[in-house]
Amino acid sequence: MAAKKAIARSKSSDKTARGALPAKVRRDERDLLARLARGAVICAEGYVFELERRGYLQAEKLRVIGREKDLVPMNRAALKIARSVARKTGTLFAGDLCNTNIYDPADKSSIKEVERIFVEQVGWAVEAGVDYFVAETLGWAGEALMALDAIRKYSKVPAVVTFAMHREELTRDGLTPAEACQRLEAAGADVVGLNCIRGPATMMPLLKEIRKAVKCQLAALPVPYRTTPSQPSFMALTDTCCGNARAFPVGLDPFVCTREEISGFGREAFALGIRYLGVCCGAGPHHIRALAESLGRHPLASRYSADMSKHAFFGTDKKIRKIQTEYRDKA
Ligand SMILES: [Zn+2]
Repeated sequence: MAAKKAIARSKSSDKTARGALPAKVRRDERDLLARLARGAVICAEGYVFELERRGYLQAEKLRVIGREKDLVPMNRAALKIARSVARKTGTLFAGDLCNTNIYDPADKSSIKEVERIFVEQVGWAVEAGVDYFVAETLGWAGEALMALDAIRKYSKVPAVVTFAMHREELTRDGLTPAEACQRLEAAGADVVGLNCIRGPATMMPLLKEIRKAVKCQLAALPVPYRTTPSQPSFMALTDTCCGNARAFPVGLDPFVCTREEISGFGREAFALGIRYLGVCCGAGPHHIRALAESLGRHPLASRYSADMSKHAFFGTDKKIRKIQTEYRDKA
């Protein structure tokens, strides 16, 4: 588990984002559900707090790399950093729960341990004063319901719960994502949806089914890769340049989505009524910025968005010489 921040700017906070940021954010500005009611919440995954998505703040992964003793200090430090950034910037501060990688519905001792882990993680985050929780990248509906249960029992803040759908269009316990999200909604989740594993093209059809199945707010955070119907997850992608070897995790470069593809996804998702939006593993700051801009936002980072008006060949600025602009069709 770790902490992450979500950029969630209303019209009023857009002003503060461009000017001096308030030292203290008003309590009502820290209400996820109120912000979702006003418009989109853009999650900063892949931006500042990628800590959890790299996975090393999770007990099982720390055990695998022999750093179990760092679990508590690393989680507390991550929460402290996230809180500090969120409070300075007027963004939301979320506590994070994710797949434990030990959940096994047939093994009672694993269920007990998952419960202990989730309760412990919720406790750290509540102590740190999170504005809401994200439970994400969950492959099992049963594990997702356990994460939600811990959030509901031990905190009073909203819960966002999202599934990671692999090649199969079913959770690992055999539910469609729509059915699984219905169960989460019935169990009290405030926001349900999908994150990770699938790119925009192969996540969108599942989101449409979920939209029809639930009434609550929806979340969508695809990976920024060109997944396809025959290779719907980024772990399934193979690269023809390299003997059709699996591209995941370090050979994914040829499959990276453009800013325009992410913008298109943002617009389509928002039109479906999906308001909690982000980009998951592999996202760069430019993807998050493109997503925000696709929804009419102008975050501070928009100052870095490409300005082609002064380009040597394609620019429209009057100062660009004619000999250059006339050459643009040959450039
Ligand atoms: Zn991810």
